[in-house]
Amino acid sequence: NFTAEVVPQAPEDPLFGLMRAYRADQDPNKVDLGIGAYRDDNAKPWVLPVVKKADETLRNDPELNHEYAPIAGIASFTSKAAELILGGADSPAIREKRVTSVQTISGTGAVHLGALFLARFYTGSKKVYLSDPTWANHNQIFSNVGIPIAKYPYFSKETSGLDFEGMKAALHGAPEGSIVLLHACAHNPTGVDPTLEQWKEIAELLRVKKHFPFFDCAYQGFASGDLMKDNAAVRYFVEQGFELVIAQSFAKNFGLYGERAGCFHVVTSPASDAETTIARIASQLAILQRSEISNPPLYGARIASIVLNDPKLFAEWEENLRTMSGRIITMRKALRAKLEELGTPGTWNHITDQIGMFSFTGLTEPQVLKIRSDFHIYMTKNGRISMAGLNTKNVEYVAKAIDKIVR
Ligand code: PLP
Repeated sequence: NFTAEVVPQAPEDPLFGLMRAYRADQDPNKVDLGIGAYRDDNAKPWVLPVVKKADETLRNDPELNHEYAPIAGIASFTSKAAELILGGADSPAIREKRVTSVQTISGTGAVHLGALFLARFYTGSKKVYLSDPTWANHNQIFSNVGIPIAKYPYFSKETSGLDFEGMKAALHGAPEGSIVLLHACAHNPTGVDPTLEQWKEIAELLRVKKHFPFFDCAYQGFASGDLMKDNAAVRYFVEQGFELVIAQSFAKNFGLYGERAGCFHVVTSPASDAETTIARIASQLAILQRSEISNPPLYGARIASIVLNDPKLFAEWEENLRTMSGRIITMRKALRAKLEELGTPGTWNHITDQIGMFSFTGLTEPQVLKIRSDFHIYMTKNGRISMAGLNTKNVEYVAKAIDKIVR
């Protein structure tokens, strides 16, 4: 039945392939700049101190059991998750009860549930516009539910910044009512975000063209270290009265990668019947969720919920976020400074202009392969590096390697 014609061998996921190659490398100087996970200055995974505390509280709870979660997840978690992304309980959408939230299998599950919901119920032009480039999984997730994909230009090779004109032209040319996927902050893989002024122009363009915003937010608090700064685009769109959806991940900002804590939110536009609209949407989301995962996993959401519901722990979490984002910003500065000190050909301001976990270095695929074979430095073929892989011990080695490679 399952012959090679029917089930051909699929290529390995490039990112997981890269991780495997890195692990197999025996060189003592090897550097992993592929991983999309935070590392401390010793290149080790970091359990957030606030997560350790919440974990202890959880384990010591005599009432703790392992019953099923409700279909939409833990309400104390999803309500706080909505407040976090929408900017607090006084968000107009929350006050007017125009939000429904479903706990998902981290950000991936949230993007999937959103895509599935739109595949079933979206009546506009059923095509999703993804930034070029984007997180590779976006392509597969939307394809899996049968939503065709189109691209809008995003990254300018000339400036290593935003191709704003290209982006606007493509969204302007898209059929009216298209779905537009937007990275809320810390764009993956480029590290390039629109400014708030540019976001306002994007919002205006989407409004005129009746496009539907689909925000993917995987890095809130991780980009600038400031939760309210990192949700500014989402808040602005909600203030403007957009109907929109949000996929929210707690993998990076809580360091809960493997626990799969996430949330999917639908915000309807202000209307007298918004509350009944949102109830109908919630009822359909519950059916989709039930058929896919029945109910979401508890552990990560419980940890996040403890922190999000306790003002003291919340403040501590913000401190932990500043530690992570601060270390990354320091590494950006250090890498740029070393490259400029070495007089490495090219300009390197984009390293510090870009934000969040990733940077697009501008290295070409042959250069990426050469830096891997000659210096045991691992990055994705598009020249993306994870800033979290840099530390005070290897940043000079990496800068010198880049210098040799580009000369
Ligand atoms: N969206 C973007 C843009 C991402 O970069 C990621 C993770 O790398 C995700 C979503 C989903 O991550 P997770 O499913 O681990 O929450």
